[in-house]
Amino acid sequence: MARVIIIRYGEIFLKGKNKSYFESLLVSNIKASLKDIKHVFNRSQGRFFVENFAKDDEAEIVDRLKKVFGIYSLSVADKVETKYPEDFADIRESIKELSQRLEEESTLKNPKFRVTVKRADKRIPITSAEIAADFGGIVLENTSFSVDLKHFDYEINVDIRENGWAFVYSEVIMGAGGLPVGCSNRGLLLLSGGIDSPVAAYMMAKRGMKLVAIHFASPPYTSERAKQKVVELRDIVSKYTTDMKLMVVPFTDIQLAIHEYCPAEYMITIMRRFMMRIASIVAEENDCRAIITGESLGQVASQTVESMTSTEDTALLPIFRPLIAFDKEETMTLAKKIGTFETSIEPFEDCCTIFLPKNPAIKPKLDTVRRAEKEIPNADELIKKAIEGIEVL
Ligand code: ATP
Ligand code: MG
Repeated sequence: MARVIIIRYGEIFLKGKNKSYFESLLVSNIKASLKDIKHVFNRSQGRFFVENFAKDDEAEIVDRLKKVFGIYSLSVADKVETKYPEDFADIRESIKELSQRLEEESTLKNPKFRVTVKRADKRIPITSAEIAADFGGIVLENTSFSVDLKHFDYEINVDIRENGWAFVYSEVIMGAGGLPVGCSNRGLLLLSGGIDSPVAAYMMAKRGMKLVAIHFASPPYTSERAKQKVVELRDIVSKYTTDMKLMVVPFTDIQLAIHEYCPAEYMITIMRRFMMRIASIVAEENDCRAIITGESLGQVASQTVESMTSTEDTALLPIFRPLIAFDKEETMTLAKKIGTFETSIEPFEDCCTIFLPKNPAIKPKLDTVRRAEKEIPNADELIKKAIEGIEVL
């Protein structure tokens, strides 16, 4: 019996005349996510189908598809010949096997079921309800389940397609939802090694934004291993965001200069202003229209309204902060769900922790910061050098 994965897509249906654009983006993202797995991709009547894959790859394919934004839900089905006007023999066999399997796996007391038939094959003169009643008999014969059309624990679906094939399945697996990556422009993600920024990436990608990532490293104060951790985070997040280029900026000289010329309490604020200057230039070069950070209001000294005002002052693009109103708890829950948490909590130095002042300014005044920063004699040159030193991973 052949297997097929049925892919349903939701929100993008709403988009009227953009529908075919959204669909084709989704198709290319699905194909990209499965590119190293043998399969055949088909589409028909508002559904996509993945078929002809090896049995051993089935779980991996489902796992990858669950991470493709724009997919509403999935089902893994038996694909059988309809065999009409014969007696639907293969469908019957499939229903028998499926219902027996459901019973074996069930931990419920007196489970209830129903059979739902959809019949696109209009040659068949009997109604869907009549066929469903007939098929329900197979489940009754082979399991201890009883019928309940309203309050059922299991639904056995039989889709009789027009082309002589039918799909039999029960489980509907929820997809990642959202919009296909690529439909909402490109953004430059400031990716640290922490918990927050990978989650921010996930959230923007969910709204269809394609991402390019930038990481500020300060060797030798930050190690090769710390950089490797960021690469790992990028790799995990890429399963949701589609491929994501990562650029590593050498940030040491800028930090040393700030440390040398500026008051300690403004270290973080000024450092973040430099990050935004560099990010703005790199964004332009990479055709990105927004800057994304993992900041959350009030989380640390650099994430007050005043600090963000100071930071934004040097950005040439809008800054999106999808976690702005999240509790740490909520962010951690999402990080665990997307699989970045364990990597994020590995203890490696971050450039932000170097020369960390004892008492950072919590409410920096913009004009004071601007003035303090002017003390750095060769700021433009430092920025230019940092950008020239970018390593693409
Ligand atoms: P995260 O968990 O994402 O590291 P955080 O709670 O540690 O965030 P900060 O260190 O203040 O907060 O950083 C706020 C945001 O600034 C990060 O979410 C990230 O987007 C960006 N950022 C901080 N450090 C770096 C870095 N070394 N490289 C790139 N971006 C950074
Ligand atoms: Mg951090």
